[in-house]
Amino acid sequence: MKTLVLATRNAGKAREFQDLLGSLGWTVLTASQAGYEGEPKETGKTFRENALIKANEIATHVPHPVLSDDSGLEVEALNGAPGIYSARFARSNAKDENNRRKLLAVMRDQTNRRARFVCVLCFFESGKEPRYFEGICNGNITREERGDSGFGYDPVFIPDSDTRTFGEMKAVEKNPISHRGKAVAAFLEDLRKT
Ligand code: IMP
Repeated sequence: MKTLVLATRNAGKAREFQDLLGSLGWTVLTASQAGYEGEPKETGKTFRENALIKANEIATHVPHPVLSDDSGLEVEALNGAPGIYSARFARSNAKDENNRRKLLAVMRDQTNRRARFVCVLCFFESGKEPRYFEGICNGNITREERGDSGFGYDPVFIPDSDTRTFGEMKAVEKNPISHRGKAVAAFLEDLRKT
């Protein structure tokens, strides 16, 4: 069994990674399970920069390869916002429901509802160059919340391949089409080659 450490404190994301990687024979530890209790500061200007900051910081404290991600929602009518600020759209340390409420409020008069989720993974093994993998999921923002599964903006996002929001789907339905699922698939494809 290979072990990797996930650089996330977000329980929703950790669950998704564990589903995606655990079923492929990886032992997945969260940073705190591996003994790292810090909180890397996401001071980057891009998803990539933030993913590298998290992976690099945690890799100096744990004896395993680290997989970090940075992800968020880019809304066309908002020129790509909230983007890297998705977790703190309403305010810093905002709850998911406050971020969703703010999004629906600022989108109230918008007819262009196009949006995409983006996920960038950074795989950091000591002594090697970091490797990046990206996944995108295109869709539309709803006018009201639907469903209560998943996390974050799931109840207000309908992926193009479905009529339901991510919040109305089970994890096994969301994972194969999600930005995170696609980025993980690219990561696994690369692992198989190396
Ligand atoms: P991060 O921890 O800086 O990557 O924050 C990502 C934020 O983007 C999360 O807190 C959510 O608000 C949002 N987000 C990312 N991926 C998803 C997803 O799969 N569903 C819903 N919201 C997501």
